[in-house]
Amino acid sequence: MSKSAAAFEQAQRYLSGGVNSPVRSFQSIGGTPPFIQRGAGAYLKDIDGRRYLDFCLSWGVHILGHNPPAVVRAVRRTLADGLSFGAPTELETRLAKLIISAIPSLEKIRFVNSGTEAAMSALKLARYYTGRRKIVMLEGGYHGHAEYSEVLRAPFNDRTALEKIFARHKNKIAALIVEPVPANMGVVLPEAGYLAFLRELTAAAKTVLIFDEVITGFRLGWGGAQNYFGVVPDLTCLGKIIGGGLPAAAYGGKRELMSLVAPEGPVYQAGTLSGNPLAMSAGLAVLQELQKPQTYQALQKNTEYFFTELAKHLPPDVRLNHLGAMFTLFFTKTKVRDYRGAQTSDVKKFARFYHKLLRSGIYFSPAQFEADFISARHTPADLKRTLTAILAAV
Ligand code: PLP
Repeated sequence: MSKSAAAFEQAQRYLSGGVNSPVRSFQSIGGTPPFIQRGAGAYLKDIDGRRYLDFCLSWGVHILGHNPPAVVRAVRRTLADGLSFGAPTELETRLAKLIISAIPSLEKIRFVNSGTEAAMSALKLARYYTGRRKIVMLEGGYHGHAEYSEVLRAPFNDRTALEKIFARHKNKIAALIVEPVPANMGVVLPEAGYLAFLRELTAAAKTVLIFDEVITGFRLGWGGAQNYFGVVPDLTCLGKIIGGGLPAAAYGGKRELMSLVAPEGPVYQAGTLSGNPLAMSAGLAVLQELQKPQTYQALQKNTEYFFTELAKHLPPDVRLNHLGAMFTLFFTKTKVRDYRGAQTSDVKKFARFYHKLLRSGIYFSPAQFEADFISARHTPADLKRTLTAILAAV
């Protein structure tokens, strides 16, 4: 038995499902997960000493790869002064200022500890602001694990379905929350004009438009999906990249909305560890690297080659959806433009494909309906090897 398999057995005795987040358990693809010892650059090493080229990257967190030296240095410096104070630090303001300078729709933000909290808090704020209860989500979208009441759902990329919902629930919809480029049903692209349509529809209905950019924020470039597509939401949720591998997320928007958050306003929202100094310094160090134009340029150059070659050589029953440095392979002939399309993927084929890749030392996100990510540390040689392995596996 491998050390990972033994560790998983132990973990299952003490942790629900053996994990602290369900998809890590490999449940949908079978087998047992490698237990990770360390990460460096584009690589992971497990406790059995196997190395993997990592395309999960802590679910999109590590755009600079694992343990970037500048981030490690910054965290060490902060660590010397303490772990958490529950009192303001200048680091919080510095990171907020940098995020606000990158995303023009943000005038003020509030740091929280997870994407779940960011979405939950943004929705609470939207409900207070509008005095309405109902929330619209798009099928296959993920905004964390909080439980919401009064949720209406429509398929992504379907304008008519949304128009009907908005007509039927006139003056009752507080917020429409959407991943501008969904990545939690696998990557799905918004069709031309769809995000602008969401903007017009919600503005006309006086509904708060929330872009959940927990994945797309700082991944689709400096400025996120809203900058990429030129559509301005009322509120934005961020996470993953802005914490640099430590727990940090944020929500924010116009001053008019954010001034309703306590202590400026009546919408209560708080957190013992919110704005934690280690997380703030990690996030700050990551964003400072991303601010250098060459970081995104290099990433784009590498990924362009990879996706072009992949698209050219994949068989017709494997679909590649990609944008920026994120992608999903679906095992279907159907063009995947929404959740129903994603569901046509043959998950058994995906599982076989997944394990073949894993055996060749390539670690993809361990489920079909997830995104894979490329970091600035994936070299052209890494990507070439991956290309060959993917084409052999499919
Ligand atoms: N929103 C989106 C778009 C996400 O992808 C995720 C997590 O993957 C979340 C929210 C929840 O974030 P967290 O896992 O930090 O609670």
